[in-house]
Amino acid sequence: MTYLDQMAELLRFHRALDPDTPLTQHNLKAHVTLFQEKADLFADGIPGPNTLWALQEPYYADKAALDIVGVEADPAPPGIEALPRFNLRIDAAASFRDICAEARAAGAIMLSSGGQRPLSEGANASRSAISMHYPAIAVDMCINAGFFNPKTDPYVLVPNGTRRFTVYARATQGTDMTLNAVDWTGSWSNGKVKRVEVSGKFIDLTSLMAKYGWRPIGARRCYTRAENKRYLCSEWWHFQYEFLLTPRISQIGIEVLRISGITAEKIQQLNPALWERRKEVFKKGWN
Ligand SMILES: [Zn+2]
Repeated sequence: MTYLDQMAELLRFHRALDPDTPLTQHNLKAHVTLFQEKADLFADGIPGPNTLWALQEPYYADKAALDIVGVEADPAPPGIEALPRFNLRIDAAASFRDICAEARAAGAIMLSSGGQRPLSEGANASRSAISMHYPAIAVDMCINAGFFNPKTDPYVLVPNGTRRFTVYARATQGTDMTLNAVDWTGSWSNGKVKRVEVSGKFIDLTSLMAKYGWRPIGARRCYTRAENKRYLCSEWWHFQYEFLLTPRISQIGIEVLRISGITAEKIQQLNPALWERRKEVFKKGWN
């Protein structure tokens, strides 16, 4: 949904905008001010993190919670460790299954290292405290299935700038391509990359993901430095379902609270660092 459509929906829920009054750039501030006054917030007409939280928390509490469901992955080829299934929020799972169906129809295999991350698992150098794995709307393709053996791996990576990759999946019904792929040398905690030319039949998995509203994230600094790169910071495998989110409105804590069985108390207890940052806004700190 667009920013104004989503704001109109939220303001109408709180009776700070009439059902038949259109919300525009011109009357937005007045209606946000009206909501802030009703909600006893500092009334500056600016929908900042506290105002967005007060708008969204009751709105989503009034809606049906979203279940976590399992998504089946393909069996991994010998020598590659991958999960047979992983969990996603039901809205993300429906979309990801469509991607899997299209990829499989082209003869590619869908291998994963995980979807939902339990709240009890905290952040580290390669894991963001406000990762989209917490609301279970992100998938990691299998971290063992690319980068190390580009001539045979199910996934082959081509750099796209310094922080991103285009992920190609080997596919029996794919298009003949010659790729200038990256190849990792060294250990996972101290490596560097070289390039290798790889020919075969592929589909562009990054474009397929984008068609359904799933986007990659950039590599972390521990990968982009010239030497002593950490493999787990490359993030080539990570895709998140940004189609579900509205830039400058959606908040990490709200998206986690939409999951069935998750409460504010549970987040505070299991992941205080995430609760601390619950009001971070998509595309304004939460990416
Ligand atoms: Zn990830």
